[in-house]
Amino acid sequence: MSAHPRRQSLAVRVGPVVIGGGHPIVVQSMTNTDTADAEATAQQVRALARTGSELVRITVNSAEAAAAVPKVHERLAQLGVDVPLIGDFHFNGHKLLREHPACAAALAKYRINPGNVGRGSKRDPQFAEMIEIACRHDKPVRIGVNWGSLDQDLLTRLMDENSRAAEPRPAQAVLRDAIVTSAIASATRAREFGLPAERIVLSAKVSGVQDLIAVYRDLAARCDYPLHLGLTEAGMGSKGIVASTAAMAVLLQEGIGDTIRVSLTPEPGGDRSQEVIVAQEILQTMGLRAFVPMVVACPGCGRTTSSYFQQLAQAIQGHIRHRMPAWSRDYEGVEEMTVAVMGCVVNGPGESRHANIGISLPGTGERPVAPVYEDGEKTVTLKGEHIAEEFQDLVERYVARRYARRSTP
Ligand code: SF4
Repeated sequence: MSAHPRRQSLAVRVGPVVIGGGHPIVVQSMTNTDTADAEATAQQVRALARTGSELVRITVNSAEAAAAVPKVHERLAQLGVDVPLIGDFHFNGHKLLREHPACAAALAKYRINPGNVGRGSKRDPQFAEMIEIACRHDKPVRIGVNWGSLDQDLLTRLMDENSRAAEPRPAQAVLRDAIVTSAIASATRAREFGLPAERIVLSAKVSGVQDLIAVYRDLAARCDYPLHLGLTEAGMGSKGIVASTAAMAVLLQEGIGDTIRVSLTPEPGGDRSQEVIVAQEILQTMGLRAFVPMVVACPGCGRTTSSYFQQLAQAIQGHIRHRMPAWSRDYEGVEEMTVAVMGCVVNGPGESRHANIGISLPGTGERPVAPVYEDGEKTVTLKGEHIAEEFQDLVERYVARRYARRSTP
């Protein structure tokens, strides 16, 4: 949808999804269920996929979790969900993949953290074993460095070299360098062990916005593997959303990033799918992809003393999310629709005219009527108790009229 210049990278196929090579930026997410509980994990994967996650990562941390992976896969097939599953391995991944070949086969991609594959003399053979299993099963691998678990041997070596340099660099710069070097050196080792370059995705996650931007710029300049972008430990609520968006938007604007994950900490009992919505909204508001129709709503001010228009904007947003799976199945291009919900006549009619369909509610002291605009023309004026329901009906009819029906196979 956008002519935005993207960094050139290799294309890596993960089941039916392609990461990199100029393909659309892929949204992914991660479950927080105990993978050993196959039913709960399958249900959460289904919810994430239904919200729009195109890849879903699950942790594989124990024999029970590894044994459950094929069951999760089967259950998803029963539920009609074909989203590729990615296994997240740390410490014992080599053992789990070796002892659970059905797990190795059911996963579409493995995530390996080079800082957590083993220490000292164990590191290389354990890393090699995971790569050999990936080769045997024709699976791609994400080499995912995280500064919280950075290869300490490498960091110590680079710090020592820096301290002996004539003009030592700041420790933070050496740390960033160690993160990038770990990712690239691990990819080189994986290729030496037989993994083709077209099966490698890299990530190098840190939790600081400026660090993330610096690390990924460096990584992008030093290799052509597709990059998985994400701020690790982004945090809760608005802080997590803002920090992730600030970091990723800068990089995406520079064409860096082939798949993204927003690592939000959910509120207790909160909805895990929020991270998928935020990831989609980052890409859509930047004009990089379209997922669901966007609701344009004014912020409200002293001209809207009732909360009615906020409720309407929320109801419309909820209705669109709810209807989108059916709309996208039935209609082509509906994800590019914009819907305006405005609070009064100051900007209401103008903004509504720019949207595909828009409503301008009455502000305080204005006549209690709500003109509706479709494709720039005023078509109807709503009034009375049921404006919300009537506007939703108009949106439904607009979609059916405006977008071409997909042909059924
Ligand atoms: S459109 Fe009206 S209600 Fe909304 S922010 Fe502008 S002046 Fe305020």
